[in-house]
Amino acid sequence: MKNHPKTPFFPLCDLHHSPMRRVMLEGPASEETRTFHQCERRDCHRIFRDGYGYSDFADGEFDASRVSNRECPVCGGTLYLAEVDRARKVETWECAEMECDYTEDVPSPPSR
Ligand SMILES: [Zn+2]
Ligand SMILES: [Zn+2]
Repeated sequence: MKNHPKTPFFPLCDLHHSPMRRVMLEGPASEETRTFHQCERRDCHRIFRDGYGYSDFADGEFDASRVSNRECPVCGGTLYLAEVDRARKVETWECAEMECDYTEDVPSPPSR
């Protein structure tokens, strides 16, 4: 491993607010390291990739039509859902960039 791992971060699924686990894809060495986070729910294909944001992943393909990307207004990095306060109905989004500590609180949409 010669890439520089970022500080570990733990995004939540933007649909279920459930934890996501880190997944590594086998791929040609020439490609960027293909790691991403995937929702732990079995029936959920939601993934988060640093630099891309949230999208769906099924049958080895990323579904670009389901992308949801929030951009950090400070550094242009990708924001991920870090915490949900169910009592206050507030979502906390954090920047995935290692050197940026931008966070943002947004009202959580009513549960579907
Ligand atoms: Zn999910
Ligand atoms: Zn940032």
